[in-house]
Amino acid sequence: MNETHDPQLMSWVQSANAPLADFPIQNLPFGVFSRTGDSASRVGVAIGDQILDVTVCLKAGLLSKSPAARACGESSLNTLMGLDPAELADFRRELSALLKSDGKAARSKSRAKKILIPMRDAIMGLPAEVGDYTDFYASIHHATNVGSMFRPDNPLLPNYKYVPIGYHGRASSIIASGTDVKRPSGQTKSPDATAPSFGPSKMLDYESELGFFVGRGNEIGSTIPIDESESHIFGYCLVNDWSARDIQSWEYQPLGPFLAKNFATTLSPWVVTAEAIEPYRIPLAARAAGDPQPLKYLRSGMGAARGGIAAYLEVFLSTKKMRASGAEPFRLSRASFESMYWSPAQMLTHHASNGCNMKPGDLLASGTVSGDSPESRGCLLELTWRGANPIKLPNREVRRFLEDGDEVIMKGHLEMEGRARIGFGECRGTVVSADQV
Ligand code: CA
Repeated sequence: MNETHDPQLMSWVQSANAPLADFPIQNLPFGVFSRTGDSASRVGVAIGDQILDVTVCLKAGLLSKSPAARACGESSLNTLMGLDPAELADFRRELSALLKSDGKAARSKSRAKKILIPMRDAIMGLPAEVGDYTDFYASIHHATNVGSMFRPDNPLLPNYKYVPIGYHGRASSIIASGTDVKRPSGQTKSPDATAPSFGPSKMLDYESELGFFVGRGNEIGSTIPIDESESHIFGYCLVNDWSARDIQSWEYQPLGPFLAKNFATTLSPWVVTAEAIEPYRIPLAARAAGDPQPLKYLRSGMGAARGGIAAYLEVFLSTKKMRASGAEPFRLSRASFESMYWSPAQMLTHHASNGCNMKPGDLLASGTVSGDSPESRGCLLELTWRGANPIKLPNREVRRFLEDGDEVIMKGHLEMEGRARIGFGECRGTVVSADQV
């Protein structure tokens, strides 16, 4: 950690100093924005309710002409993601120095007009061109809950405590926050039916996950040793892995999820860097007595001591009726990332352990983040126990799974005693009917 993490640091951008601001000066996440009415997009830094236009700062001589600053002229974070962590650390220091309060309010005001864009005047795109996307299953609570619904006698398969389980997702259907999600159609078969039928999913769900982007990659045939793994992670965002449970339960054996998952995956726009997350590192959750230790290639003293992240993820639902009546979104769950069985570093090292080459901008996601309490379950499948215990909303609507018009809003933040609170922002998506284009 360094001066950029100092909890006392304030910004001359006043909105960044609000107690619950997601983007105080200690955060400095990167995202891809375009001004409303202008299709050209480039990389900016979130500060309060504003976006710092790095390219304008560079032209004005407010930042040095480093590879990192120049990479912000591009329409994705991929080049920035591939840079050496030391270069990124230098860039973060410069950004922090530029945005920190220096007591010269008048100068700040005139400068702000040139280099800041209000978030309300910008459209956020996807942060990266994701070449490949892999989704893991790293919450043992989620895996146990889901397993016990599908296989009551054998909820957790014997490989779970040895292998960070994952599947290859689809990169082409990764969409930016705010994009509508069309209800998918597919093959489903109810238990009492003799044959499957094809039609719109009746069990559409979300999954609240933490995503992480690969920074520097590895050559094909090489690996990422566990003690180096953290330095290959660029940063983190929120992920909604939309899931059609009825399609999933019919298709998933023997090769795993396919069309139940690949119709849409929504990402939050701002990528909170690995460096920004440093103050919220905690020990990886202790394994239960009797659980095996990870195999050697996934074991690390440093990883055990700081493999966990004090991140908290919340999911809210806003139905069409709620919006019409002006009701606030209803919080469905709140979960902590602290109880994950596998760390992001272990997931990445495992992914590359067979010589699979990882590239800057590849997206890995944690899998549904669920804790051990009912209110911490990160998807409707778990919250309603596959529809058996419907959720009663404050306006008396009832949900087993998502209905057309439902908006799912995910939020997340990091906090710890004696540190600043920083946030991920939001990941939003509204379900539209299967007939709607
Ligand atoms: Ca998932």
